[in-house]
Amino acid sequence: MKKQTVAFSKESSNLFFHILTKCNLSCSHCYINKEQHGDNTLSLHTITHWLDIFASKAHQTNLIFLGGEPTLHPDLSRAVKTAKKMGFKSITIDTNGYLFHDILDKVSKDDIDFLSFSLDGATKKTNDAIRGNGSFDAVMTGIKKARAKHFSCSMIYTVSDKNIHELERMPDLVKQLGIDRFFIQVIGIRGESSKTDVTLPTTLQVSKSLWRKTIPRVAKDIAAHGITVTYPTVFLSCDDDFQCAGNVADNYFVFPNGRVYQCPICEDFALHSFEIKNNTLNPRPPINEKDLFKLTIAEGCVMNKMIQPENLSYNKNGNPKHQIACCMLKEELTP
Ligand code: SF4
Ligand code: SF4
Repeated sequence: MKKQTVAFSKESSNLFFHILTKCNLSCSHCYINKEQHGDNTLSLHTITHWLDIFASKAHQTNLIFLGGEPTLHPDLSRAVKTAKKMGFKSITIDTNGYLFHDILDKVSKDDIDFLSFSLDGATKKTNDAIRGNGSFDAVMTGIKKARAKHFSCSMIYTVSDKNIHELERMPDLVKQLGIDRFFIQVIGIRGESSKTDVTLPTTLQVSKSLWRKTIPRVAKDIAAHGITVTYPTVFLSCDDDFQCAGNVADNYFVFPNGRVYQCPICEDFALHSFEIKNNTLNPRPPINEKDLFKLTIAEGCVMNKMIQPENLSYNKNGNPKHQIACCMLKEELTP
């Protein structure tokens, strides 16, 4: 088993393309914010033009189709085939499991690299309390159908104080389901999560000690089943090198209203560094997220300190006890 920190690189890009924000679910931690991201559905024509903006680097770009629920888009299969012709390095569809518009009959395992299912609990009770009634069963059925058609399937588990207790039940479940890659995410305090009533006895994000005690151990258990696991680093010691992906990587988070962010935790604010207008990508004037990427603070990520400082702690001299890593810094365990 090999563990490595996935280094940021300008030579490899990720394009997170939200083609609509409509969804059949209303998950309690959904990061979609229609006021900031729009409520429109992009036409196939527009999707093609917007993919074309990034096509010159397609060979080094991992493309992820997102929503909302991307399979609610009636032309998703055609968008996938267009992207395939443009030569994107990999194509993934992120889904909540409902797989609308018979998507599995319209794309083949050769058109996409991964179908990525979101599941936030090892049981119906925990998952459905977060993602809505019926969503656990929809994911189970969706994975079985996808596996029967030989699609490679991945899974995303967003860890919060509501579901970390079930993470250790995931190794057996993912093995039984035939999952190829497992992604652990940390809940971000944005979108619906930012509306949590702060007077309630919940923090949503888990403590450093619980994170460190649980995540690497479960990741190892899952990797022992032959499954590649990726999880965010989150906590760095004060001596570790801190890097902001906004400065040293090449990520684009595109929304249907034309906003393009480089940092996901800026997405609740009009801080996007680019905007697509008339099918061209235009840099935005200051102040935008790029101005924040340049700031250096002892706590690590500037945006983290601004919007979710609860995960920081200080010693009696007022110095931070740890840094918070860029939310895009990941550890990868390969079997
Ligand atoms: S499935 Fe995704 S887009 Fe839909 S409500 Fe849940 S988190 Fe939001
Ligand atoms: S999460 Fe923090 S460190 Fe990462 S890109 Fe955003 S501002 Fe930079």
